[in-house]
Amino acid sequence: MNEKKVIKSCCKGCHGGCGVLITVENGVVTYIEGDPDSITEGTVCTKGLASIQHINNPNRVKYPIKRTGKRGEGKWQRISWEEALDTIAGKMNDSIAKYGANSVCIAQGTGRGANRYVNRLARSIGTGNVFHPGYLCHSPRLLIYGLSVTGYGRLYCDYHGWGGEYPKTQISWAKQLEISNADGEMSAWFLKALEKAKNLILVDPRVTALTQKATLWLQIRHGTDAALALGMMNVIINEGLYDKEFVTNWCHGFHRLKERVQEYPPDRVAEICWIPKEDIIKAARMFAIDTPGTIQIGEPLEAQNNSTQTIRAIICLMAITGNIERPGGMVCWEPPDVGIIEDFAYEVTIPEENQKTTIGAGSYKLCTARTCHADTVIKQLKENNCAIKVFHCQQGSPLNWLANTKEALPALLNLEFISVCDLFMSPTAEHADMVLPVAHWLEHNDIWNMHPRFYVAAINKAVEPPGEAWGDNKIVLELGKRVAPKYWWFEDVEEMLGYQLRKGNITWKEFSKMGVIAKTGEEQTYYKYKTEGWRKGAKLPFMPERKMTGPGFPTPTGKVELYSTILGDMGYDPLPYFKEPNESPYSMPELYKEYPLILSTGGRLPYYFHSQYRQIPWLRELQPYPIAQIHPDTAKNLGIKDGDWVWIQTPRGRIRQKAKLFNGSDPRVVTVQASWFYPDQPGPLHGLMESNANILTSNDGPFDPAMGAPTFRVLLCKVYKAEENEND
Ligand code: SF4
Repeated sequence: MNEKKVIKSCCKGCHGGCGVLITVENGVVTYIEGDPDSITEGTVCTKGLASIQHINNPNRVKYPIKRTGKRGEGKWQRISWEEALDTIAGKMNDSIAKYGANSVCIAQGTGRGANRYVNRLARSIGTGNVFHPGYLCHSPRLLIYGLSVTGYGRLYCDYHGWGGEYPKTQISWAKQLEISNADGEMSAWFLKALEKAKNLILVDPRVTALTQKATLWLQIRHGTDAALALGMMNVIINEGLYDKEFVTNWCHGFHRLKERVQEYPPDRVAEICWIPKEDIIKAARMFAIDTPGTIQIGEPLEAQNNSTQTIRAIICLMAITGNIERPGGMVCWEPPDVGIIEDFAYEVTIPEENQKTTIGAGSYKLCTARTCHADTVIKQLKENNCAIKVFHCQQGSPLNWLANTKEALPALLNLEFISVCDLFMSPTAEHADMVLPVAHWLEHNDIWNMHPRFYVAAINKAVEPPGEAWGDNKIVLELGKRVAPKYWWFEDVEEMLGYQLRKGNITWKEFSKMGVIAKTGEEQTYYKYKTEGWRKGAKLPFMPERKMTGPGFPTPTGKVELYSTILGDMGYDPLPYFKEPNESPYSMPELYKEYPLILSTGGRLPYYFHSQYRQIPWLRELQPYPIAQIHPDTAKNLGIKDGDWVWIQTPRGRIRQKAKLFNGSDPRVVTVQASWFYPDQPGPLHGLMESNANILTSNDGPFDPAMGAPTFRVLLCKVYKAEENEND
């Protein structure tokens, strides 16, 4: 009999969390579409739709396997889950007994809901060494919004009009929300609100799909965003355009900020940023006068050696224009009735001593509030001088995301034991000692709550996983039972999900049927700082205990900290500043002679999410190979034609991508696509060394002083033509 059903669920293909309807016929997913009744209004992207091909890929890892040859040799033996979990737990327990808890490192990729399992696992065994790319992607926003404004949690752009107003001026800053739902805000909400806005200020070094819609396009030089924000504040403050009521009553350190921004007059900023002075002044006036306003921030601001102060400068710009916690401005959404689901991880504390000895803790104090500093780990491993011996990677492929791949690969191989959980044999999995098969989001139950925003959704299992694959949550639960049973007492995944929902007084089964719990419309409150209570809420680990009661912001001074007392106490500059990128024509003029182009390694792609999905035929058909955008004048000088394979080289190495002549960026800039490898090529590297932009990136400091971010998105390079089949 033909059995057909439609299951409501939530896509976990990226950070978006789009509501989807999944048609299943005879146990097979046959159709995926956006759920028009969901919070994400029926929108869905190519990646979500292509999940059908993702789950049916014959190259899925289906069973636990252990290495029988040398690392990377590709010789594997199938084993039982029992043997796999006992072995990994044994390695962890032995290492903890011999070297202490920090000798075990728990790693992940983008997280996407596994964060809370990974972090609880790490905390339950007492290690501070959690290893992931968050320190250069999104964690800076979470932590710096927290210490400057919210105590805990991000400010989000209010695109919803729940307070009666929509943003009149929107800034899209190093962000491509129009093609990617990364980081907790959705393209659909943004584009609808944009129709109601008077102004769009686009801050982007390149022409994008948004440029035609922009009232003002600021074509900024890469890595100079802090200078632009400081220059805009110079204009706003000196022309008296700031929100005097909000600044007087609710901001701490205005006069010191005023002094600081005098170092950034528009003509100096114009020189730094390569933006006409008149446009800087125009943007500043527009954002200060046409309020309310929002600023959508993208990851390139975080993946650079001045990330903390860049985010700080933009937060100060939001604050002095009175755009914080007002309708149509920047708002910290309250979580729905189930509370902050991340508490599942952070209710478990780790010994203070282990927190203090987390790798990088003495140096990068914001980064190591929740993770270790990955680049320091790699340097120590390279020297065979690292406290970490056992490395369990719950998802993600560090070899793909770490800076300077050629150094990262041999360094990781100095680990005593590596276990990896993945859907496919990634370059990292290929070099592991044990690989565990992971179920796709269509194949297991979970709670979606990527960021603590205003809703959580049920990820409902639609079909059985292949072979013996398990969801991340089940793998961590069963491992947790073996290494820290005190914290992993749940009988099964359903009980563990129910525990996470307990504050909402609801079971997993009930939640699964409801599909979503949200706090929207009039349930959300604005101006939280004017009422009692915000200061008693959740707080980041480095926030001091709050002694004051009454209205105010959950910061030490009870105000938005333009002058950050927390950064000051940590020994960092309490005020934002601009720092020239480590590798630029101005900071390295000698290197610039040999590498005469600015290299950008960024930009979202509509078909891929970081290194994911290149094994999906539909998506590879849409984009079969990596593209390097080169200005036609530059290409002509270099003898390069559209479609030529070209070498892009930095002092770390070279990669090849296909040239796309593109007059939407400065002729001095080349933009390559990040995260490329070729799953269809043979292991163990699957072409990782061929086109991956991280062959080019640097893992040498100086890093961002507080977050430890390396110089990731802006470097110096040279470009030359490659022969058709030439390869390194
Ligand atoms: S935007 Fe992300 S969450 Fe939404 S359908 Fe695409 S991959 Fe899935």
